[in-house]
Amino acid sequence: MTLLEVRDLRVTYPGGAAAVRGVDLTLPAGRKLGIAGESGCGKSTLALALLRLLPAGTEVSGRVLLDGEDVLTMRWGRVRAVRWAGASIVFQGAMHSLNPVHRVGDQIAEPVLLHRRASRARARALAGELLERVGLSAARATAYPHQLSGGQRQRVMIAMALACAPRLIVADEPTTALDVMVQAQILRLIEESVTGHDLGLIMISHDLSVLARTCDRLAVMYAGRVVEEGPAGAVHERALHPYAAALSAAFPRVGDPASRFAPRGLPGDPPDPAALPAGCAFHPRCPVAREECATDDIALREAAGSRRAACVLVPGTAGGRPVPGTAGGRPVPGAGRGDRPPDGPPADPSGRTA
Ligand code: ADP
Ligand code: MG
Repeated sequence: MTLLEVRDLRVTYPGGAAAVRGVDLTLPAGRKLGIAGESGCGKSTLALALLRLLPAGTEVSGRVLLDGEDVLTMRWGRVRAVRWAGASIVFQGAMHSLNPVHRVGDQIAEPVLLHRRASRARARALAGELLERVGLSAARATAYPHQLSGGQRQRVMIAMALACAPRLIVADEPTTALDVMVQAQILRLIEESVTGHDLGLIMISHDLSVLARTCDRLAVMYAGRVVEEGPAGAVHERALHPYAAALSAAFPRVGDPASRFAPRGLPGDPPDPAALPAGCAFHPRCPVAREECATDDIALREAAGSRRAACVLVPGTAGGRPVPGTAGGRPVPGAGRGDRPPDGPPADPSGRTA
């Protein structure tokens, strides 16, 4: 059963920034999808679009089917109901958005009161249960946010997200502001919170290694598009797209102390979405770019192993090998230029998800 189906989603902000440019994603119920990409690639915009949380005046098109119902066209009353009971978001930096003058137990109970029509006593009791589910004692319900550590506040945010028993949790950079030890605990908590509860998870991070550890599949975004999508381990270890390969090499590998202390940088920045380069948006930074990459718009194409990548060098279903000129998924600058790849099947403009 498909929980979430995103079809040709496009988002343009009032100033003309095309932040999301035709994204297709599929999430079966109970599965975990990671969305990776550097800052500015459109990850948060995508998350906000899923629940129609974008600022007024933003142009949004495409379809966001949650349990078959299109969020983009449903009535506002229905959207409000869906926001808690259908899907809920743990926002980027959310742990700083707890109300400082209210006890955390009351803040968890609030959506329960509003959306589950529970009595105050029942909502309180549920808040206590939720605190225990996220590894805090029910007695912490009386604490104010400033009395909790960053990790504890993030646990409270997760409890709030779970409060109305949603079918989908979207976690946008849930661990970015936390130190490494706490990060690992919060990731485990998010994973446990969805596993076995038939909940879907979309986890967003700039750090592929974090996502690879938690998710079933990964989608890598660049300049508002998915440039690679496939099984988490394969994308992380043997990326097909040079951007995914660079991203994988740029961030610390979990459990690899050497890379933790010397992460390899990814030179340059993603393009300004209001002034995108022609051709493949990654070509100005791509170590294996060829002439046509500066002019041709490259669609996602299917590769072996239930993978998709938007790169002229991806051999399609013929091999699904890493991009020529990348070693173990890491780009080798200068290598691969001029190599002719085996001809893949025609690119699938619908960008179907396997
Ligand atoms: P990410 O979460 O991957 O860092 P975002 O979705 O936050 O990326 O941003 C994608 C692009 O959209 C960025 O270039 C950002 O500057 C732009 N953007 C984000 N929010 C707005 C906004 N409210 N108005 C105009 N541009 C925005
Ligand atoms: Mg973001």
